[in-house]
Amino acid sequence: MKDLKQRGSLAFERVTKRYGKSVAVDDISFSIEPKTLVTLLGPSGCGKTTTLRMIAGLERVDEGRIRIGGRDVTELSAAERDVSMVFQSYALFPHMSVAENVAYGLTVARQPKMQARERALDALTLVGLADLSERSPSELSGGQQQRVAVARALVLEPEVLLLDEPLSNLDARMRTRVRDEIRDLQLKLGLTAVYVTHDQEEALAISDQIVVMNRKKIAQQGSPREIFEAPADEFVADFIGNANLVDGEIRSTDGKIANCLISGAAVDLPYSGKRTGAVRIALRPEAIGLQVADRDTSLIGEVSRATYLGREMQYTIQSELGELFVVCHRLDQIFPRGAQVGLQLKAHGAAIVGARA
Ligand code: ATP
Repeated sequence: MKDLKQRGSLAFERVTKRYGKSVAVDDISFSIEPKTLVTLLGPSGCGKTTTLRMIAGLERVDEGRIRIGGRDVTELSAAERDVSMVFQSYALFPHMSVAENVAYGLTVARQPKMQARERALDALTLVGLADLSERSPSELSGGQQQRVAVARALVLEPEVLLLDEPLSNLDARMRTRVRDEIRDLQLKLGLTAVYVTHDQEEALAISDQIVVMNRKKIAQQGSPREIFEAPADEFVADFIGNANLVDGEIRSTDGKIANCLISGAAVDLPYSGKRTGAVRIALRPEAIGLQVADRDTSLIGEVSRATYLGREMQYTIQSELGELFVVCHRLDQIFPRGAQVGLQLKAHGAAIVGARA
């Protein structure tokens, strides 16, 4: 029985998927609230697409259970699940018009032709393409084709909408546009959506929650802000924030704030643990300020690369902490290659990410 209150919720309970002897997804559990957009984010091969395909029923689960809307769907075929998927490659039928492509799923479900067409036109109106309904897919731009693919998925009014890297064939400007359109539609229609990407900025921009995957497991689940500001480990800090990972030491802690030393410089960082001693600290590129080196500066470095990008400067700095990647949005003082600089560590943008071996 479907529970209407849970409609659109999704849960993975200790799910494992193997291809032969190799594990593609390793004992993962997570849950998704109805009407939210959740991204599965991670590097190539981490198991995102396999996870999405298991939700769709396109891959069988070896161990564990999957629930959609509270209902156990683990053993159900793709056709028996109330989900639809938008693929990276659009997968439109070239010999059908745009309207026929969108109506296709409804015709297969034996809806009367007129009614299917009407609903297809409604879905095309939602994605702003009603005017192009009689064209063939080859007469559309990449962005328009992907909107047709979204309309084709939406017309089925799925309980969960699945999107597999839907923007990766679009150029940078179109990617931002279609990304924002997908998010607006999801919010407007109150859809539950699961969205696979390997692009951290896309995930931060579009998600209510991000599930970060690494090596077939879940590294962290949280809101974009939680993931960015309080990464659970070194992998998440590096993957999401391009953080510099350095050695540090907790001198004292009150269970909320830890007083840390990083190469002689003191900085207070959020910390809920009790331990003192050696730790690894993630410093985001924006968390390191640069100034003219003087006698009072405790941390000194030398600029080995300075790149002007209009809105920001990007520096590579050689220091006693190792090589650091630094981004400065203040452009009133630009340091050239070879300059000696004082490094100032800012608490916002730094996080303790684990004990040091
Ligand atoms: P990408 O971003 O490159 O698509 P991904 O995170 O989506 O990567 P998956 O495609 O889910 O990763 O793959 C997870 C693991 O399972 C990889 O090691 C991959 O090589 C393996 N794998 C995926 N599909 C198959 C298959 N059909 N047969 C054998 N191994 C597979």
